[in-house]
Amino acid sequence: MRSWHLSWKHLWAEDSLAAFRDRIAQHLCVFSAVLLLPFTINHLLMGRHMLGTIILLAQGVLFVNGYSLRHGRATPVPMWIMVLAFCSAVVASVLGQGLDTVVWAFPALFIGYFLLPRRQAQLVSLLLVVAVPVAVFSVAGTASAVRALAALVLTLAMINVVLSVIGELQVALVQQAITDPLTGAWNRRHFDELLVQMQAPPVPGTNGASRPPNVLLALDIDHFKAVNDRHGHAVGDAVLKALVQLVNQRKREGDQLFRTGGEEFVLLLPRIRLDDARRVAEELRQLVENTELAPGLRVTVSIGLSPQVPGQVASPWLAAADGALYEAKRSGRNRVVMAPVAA
Ligand code: GH3
Ligand code: MG
Ligand code: MG
Repeated sequence: MRSWHLSWKHLWAEDSLAAFRDRIAQHLCVFSAVLLLPFTINHLLMGRHMLGTIILLAQGVLFVNGYSLRHGRATPVPMWIMVLAFCSAVVASVLGQGLDTVVWAFPALFIGYFLLPRRQAQLVSLLLVVAVPVAVFSVAGTASAVRALAALVLTLAMINVVLSVIGELQVALVQQAITDPLTGAWNRRHFDELLVQMQAPPVPGTNGASRPPNVLLALDIDHFKAVNDRHGHAVGDAVLKALVQLVNQRKREGDQLFRTGGEEFVLLLPRIRLDDARRVAEELRQLVENTELAPGLRVTVSIGLSPQVPGQVASPWLAAADGALYEAKRSGRNRVVMAPVAA
């Protein structure tokens, strides 16, 4: 069974259904194709061959689109054309078959929001909210048109409210899933995901060396076990929180701090000159050394620094930072060590 992949990118784009769209479209295509079958048969039996054939064709397209989505391929007929065709069919059926068929306008509204990115769906729904009452007006007069308009606007408003609530819940859920509850830093899960995204190869035609590299600082509190042993676990926790606050105050806007283990952190410095990264690391080390992170209590940190070689995958980059951190520990702690730069 395929799993839903909730990406924060989708959520930032205010499109809470984006991660689910292909799956929804696949089921909806097959379901609609089956649902239309009795209508096709009825039209053909009643001698409405033209209409019957059109719906039969639509069923074929729905099946082919559903099949393509099932196999991870793009749909031969784009979804926005399917939705627009459905909306046009709703308007045409109101004009051709009368007021009864206006009920189809409501699933059409919903379907647009499920199949299209939200902005596109909003455009389509506005078209529907204008065109359907106009069609109703021409077949049933002003009162029916006003009722249709009010009902459609209300439905549209509720769809948007529900999508916004889902969007906010998803943002909260994803935030929790990628945040360390004790310190508020990003957690290991987020770090691993981000590292994978950052292993993109350099732009073709460049060796990537002209841009400053991304730099990892692997940071570990020295003798932290002794802090817990002497002052208790609660004070240890307070130290961890205070350390994160301290780093957050000093880091640049684009830098990201992750808690990757108990008293281990990684600070990701995107696109920074190596000299600047070394200066940042040294300043952080001194800042920690000179700040009381709990009343009357100071700790020191060891830092391993590793720049990303252009196109380098995540694991050797991280391993290099860990190696440098190990070297900082081995050579006496409370210091910054830079990983050897590959030739
Ligand atoms: P080193 O200088 O070699 O890094 O020594 P260390 O004592 O810092 O390292 P070690 O790995 O021996 O101990 C890490 C300690 O961190 C042990 C564990 O109890 C503590 N720790 C891990 N997570 C937490 C936490 O969430 N809160 C508290 N208070 N302590 C934690
Ligand atoms: Mg430690
Ligand atoms: Mg450690």
